[in-house]
Amino acid sequence: MSKKEYILAIDHGTTSTRAILFDHDCKICGMAQKEGSVDYPAPGWVEQDATDIWLDTVAVMAEVLNKNHVDPDQIKAIGISNQRETTVLWDKKTGLPIYKAIVWQSRQTSEICDDWKEKGYEEIIRKKTGLRIDPYFSASKIAWILENVPEARKKAEDGDLLFGNMDSWLVWKLTGGEQHITDATNASRTLLCDIEKVDWDDELLKMFNIPKTLLPRIVPTSQNYGTTAPYSFFGSRVPICSMVGDQQAALFGQLCLEKGMAKNTYGTGGFLLMNTGDEIVRSDNGLLSTIAWQIGDDVTYALEGSIFVSGSVMKWMRDELQLFEEVSETEEMARRAKTTGGVYIIPAFVGLGAPYWDDKAKASIVGLSLGTNRDQLVRAAIESMAYQSRDVLNAMERDAGLKIPELKVDGGAAVNDFLLQFQSDLCQVPIERFKVNELTALGAAFLAGLAIGFWQIDDLKIEKDREFIPVRTSEVMDKHYKDWKKAVKATQAFKA
Ligand code: ADP
Repeated sequence: MSKKEYILAIDHGTTSTRAILFDHDCKICGMAQKEGSVDYPAPGWVEQDATDIWLDTVAVMAEVLNKNHVDPDQIKAIGISNQRETTVLWDKKTGLPIYKAIVWQSRQTSEICDDWKEKGYEEIIRKKTGLRIDPYFSASKIAWILENVPEARKKAEDGDLLFGNMDSWLVWKLTGGEQHITDATNASRTLLCDIEKVDWDDELLKMFNIPKTLLPRIVPTSQNYGTTAPYSFFGSRVPICSMVGDQQAALFGQLCLEKGMAKNTYGTGGFLLMNTGDEIVRSDNGLLSTIAWQIGDDVTYALEGSIFVSGSVMKWMRDELQLFEEVSETEEMARRAKTTGGVYIIPAFVGLGAPYWDDKAKASIVGLSLGTNRDQLVRAAIESMAYQSRDVLNAMERDAGLKIPELKVDGGAAVNDFLLQFQSDLCQVPIERFKVNELTALGAAFLAGLAIGFWQIDDLKIEKDREFIPVRTSEVMDKHYKDWKKAVKATQAFKA
């Protein structure tokens, strides 16, 4: 009997790195996961160790194969989804990073961005990249490392330095340094890529003083890029066939393949994306235009609302406030609270993303009383994920000129039924959750499997788990939403 075949998805997120095996039936056959460490060296700064990320990746790949008695040669292709924008620069001779990876959430490049704004770069950036000037994107992070790490600029000028987001970094490592590449979705988040041409833009590179020699080659999202080096994949040469930013991966995994289809992910951050087909839709309401995927020469675009802190507000409550031991306890706590008692948490720990784009905002809790208890704080934190999603949903409906009929959800916090019911009530929209919650990994697997003919497009399927429909009236929910908006205004008024 021939051995069963799999696609291996590496889903490297900000919170954790996972390796997941998918079979022909699009079912999960094994998973290994490691929660990564995150450093907060100064207020608003967020960094991770790229070498640890690589070692975690090797560890979860080994674990998933071992635990499930799968041989490396049963893996037909590897697909990679990754936290986007997070920036690492490494020495190509030693393979060692010259500085920590600066995480997408980090605000340490805020001054560089202020300088770019003062120089009047906003319009040209918006036109070419579909993005805006914000520390979120990779360009200011590269500029910061070149300015602040001794010898970095010299090394860059000598051609000894490479830049990558986590996709490039992992593929470079997996291929033993043979491939320095990035896919179109990741490239579209750097602030360096012209999203119409899908190419690095010389004018932007000059404006930011970033040498082109640092940059990886841009490749399609689904393609056989080359094989693993045997030592990095347990003796086997396995083709790597997709690299895709995590949010675009989730959009593909949710099978939002038609124009107008949208999904909402509740992970470390929150991300609402709508497929806009081959058209770049420019936002008037604080959203981003971005590449959804490139397959062959065909480029699909998306409109995106990015929320910087969503599920990670729960991690903060667990790790820093110690209000509970496991995030899984929070659903029960929120139900027990019954209401927040008028408390709102605005989780602007790293400023605010869409639709506010306020990189100087600080987080706050408003509406406290002497009777406020732990459960109410937890409930307010969960509700904050839903309020922020309504902010971007409303913006997206205005930009698209239509009402989104239904929201498909995924991400770590989407297992929380209380959150999804509250979201459905708040937006007065049905919410659909699928049986496989690992839709980011599935998206990367789909894109890899399609590249080698493991699947044809009609084979791709996901099974519905549960639908949440509104049970509270819009009058009641709109009143809460008005108070949320007031609370956001209050937090924006405070700048340390
Ligand atoms: P990422 O892909 O960004 O690493 P995940 O999609 O794995 O993130 O989601 C992890 C986040 O989800 C964490 O920040 C965690 O606090 C949050 N989370 C996980 N389970 C729950 C839950 N039951 N209720 C609320 N939040 C949760």
